[in-house]
Amino acid sequence: MSQTPTDLIHHPYTPPEGFSAPQPGVFKASTVIFPNVAAMRSRDWRQKNGYTYGLHGTPTTFLLEERIAALEGGKQCVLVPSGLAAIANANLALLKTGDEVLIPDNAYGPNKALAEGELAAWGITHQLYDAMDPADLQARITPRTKLVWLEAPGSVTMEFPPLAHHAHVCRQKGVTTALDNTWGAGLAFNGFDLGRGARFQPGSGADIVVQALTKYPSGGGDVLMGSIVTRDEALHLQIKLTHMRLGWGVGANDAEAVLRALPSIALRYQAQDQAARTLAAWLGQQPQVAQVLHPALAGSPGHEHWRALCTQDGQGGGASLAAGLFSVVFDARYTSGQVDAFCDALKLFKLGYSWGGPVSLVVPYDVASMRRAWPHKGVLVRFSLGLEAVQDLQADLAGALAVLAQTQA
Ligand SMILES: *Cc1c(COP(=O)(O)O)cnc(C)c1O
Repeated sequence: MSQTPTDLIHHPYTPPEGFSAPQPGVFKASTVIFPNVAAMRSRDWRQKNGYTYGLHGTPTTFLLEERIAALEGGKQCVLVPSGLAAIANANLALLKTGDEVLIPDNAYGPNKALAEGELAAWGITHQLYDAMDPADLQARITPRTKLVWLEAPGSVTMEFPPLAHHAHVCRQKGVTTALDNTWGAGLAFNGFDLGRGARFQPGSGADIVVQALTKYPSGGGDVLMGSIVTRDEALHLQIKLTHMRLGWGVGANDAEAVLRALPSIALRYQAQDQAARTLAAWLGQQPQVAQVLHPALAGSPGHEHWRALCTQDGQGGGASLAAGLFSVVFDARYTSGQVDAFCDALKLFKLGYSWGGPVSLVVPYDVASMRRAWPHKGVLVRFSLGLEAVQDLQADLAGALAVLAQTQA
């Protein structure tokens, strides 16, 4: 070996500037090298033009932060290792002992679990509110309420709440709001400016918008990541300070995977939306099904709120968007064992959590154990659409429904 290890590590060649390609480079670092001590002392980890340490950002993560902030219609973004970490980071930045947080009863389950676990242990109380009852949230706000979570639609049960009303109530009372925008993905509606057409109101939405980038932005079912987007610099810094103290970073290869998937997010979202609406409408006509829960279907809880927020003119006209996600309540004559057999009989729909990737997924839920009040007797199954051909998915569902009919006692 003619080289010493030192020559391999400190070789003078550096790649020339001026290389340009559709995809950005992947910069991986824990250590960031400073040109001199003055730079080391003067760079501030909060500034995007000054790299200090891998946990505080690299060109790859800063780029993804900028693009997610743009996707959500916000200004600043913090990246965390999962969607749940985004929820936790917002909670920890805003809440201290003696404070209270309000969470919709139909929120993403682990949000409630965190409140029941660590938050309760730290003397932070929570109340669950009925997201579909406009008066309920207002009645629960007290001087101790420091954060209100919003989510549209409800997780698994798909009720679309009057988001603009909830955000308005909180703003009037001076309470910070955080929206879990994983379903909308920054595409179906803008979490900071609610309403469409004549109903559009700038600044009428949430103060903080979080998203599980795990779902649509990643699009592959292979990345876990979350984002916390804001428009207010002081609020952003509060969240970023907590983020820095907790030591949460994301890997450069994962950030690159999301950057690679982002250009196709609108096309994928639209395709999965169309497939979901086609199959939701078809399932609604099948005798085994008592109700289909999909906010774009008339008769689904909160359909009018979805229409106001997610259709082009705010009144049901023009283009509209919804995630490729819906739930079905089976007729009460089917036992959970029979519905399990239906799920097992599906071949293209795979059994698995999460959504937003190319593979269609199915999960049976025991909703009675997840909600304070649940009006349905039948078993609920949640479907998420991938990118397979819709007719193949429909044939898969038809085959499994035939199995269900056979299992009938
Ligand atoms: C999946 C999901 C999350 C959590 O995302 P992870 O990356 O799996 O932690 C949060 N909120 C909603 C609405 C989700 O669907």
